[in-house]
Amino acid sequence: MKGWLPRRTLPVLMYHRIGPCPGGDRQLWVSEETFARHLRWIRDRGLRALSLDEAYECFRSGTPDKKAVLITFDDAFAETLDTAAPWLQKLGMRSTVFVPAGLLGQTVALSSEAGTHATASEGRIVDDQGLRRWVEAGQEVGSHSLTHQDLTTASFETASSEAARSKQLLEEVLDRPVLDFCYPFAHHNAAARRAVSEAGYRSAYAGEPPTEDLFALPRMMVFPGDTEQRYARKLSGYYYWISAWHGRVSQGGPR
Ligand SMILES: [Zn+2]
Repeated sequence: MKGWLPRRTLPVLMYHRIGPCPGGDRQLWVSEETFARHLRWIRDRGLRALSLDEAYECFRSGTPDKKAVLITFDDAFAETLDTAAPWLQKLGMRSTVFVPAGLLGQTVALSSEAGTHATASEGRIVDDQGLRRWVEAGQEVGSHSLTHQDLTTASFETASSEAARSKQLLEEVLDRPVLDFCYPFAHHNAAARRAVSEAGYRSAYAGEPPTEDLFALPRMMVFPGDTEQRYARKLSGYYYWISAWHGRVSQGGPR
């Protein structure tokens, strides 16, 4: 019977940008007001925002904490960290940012999908100092590769280098181990998972559907238009299954 029952997974929320959307893909932006409301929804449900160590332990042991959530940000745009950190601190919550380590301090235009030139997200990535401030504020850091390229279309050698060099760079900047990875565009395959594993990480975050592979951990994108009801479903640990039943698994992919 086990295979028939949907398994609860630790809810992992994926944000990209916090603030007013100046252009590009509007689905990537959640306003500061909405973000603060989301954090209050988490608090009001009595959920604890986990550290990466705690989240890893949930996935490793296969026993997700019923009163917990992992909050993550992709891409590490400076304004997003500056806006999010005070709210997280105010509510005593932890979160994790996944950083494209080779782009620290640079102004970039990230495409909407690997291999396309449509700009979805422009801005300045946090610099070394800003990232250290983020950690001093009690927040956490994982790697989002070196240059934000799709590891499934890169050579194995390049994927390995993206994984290993980003880890090394972030550890130099932060003077602490960086053990968790997040695939650019959430794209992964067997070679990408092996490259990340061999680079010395303990886990890698992706998107849906949920798997039990520590190098393909599930995450759900948060959208600016999420209602309280839909957000609550995302916090339930059964979002993928509920969405599948409704035939509405989100098509909006991560970046
Ligand atoms: Zn990204």
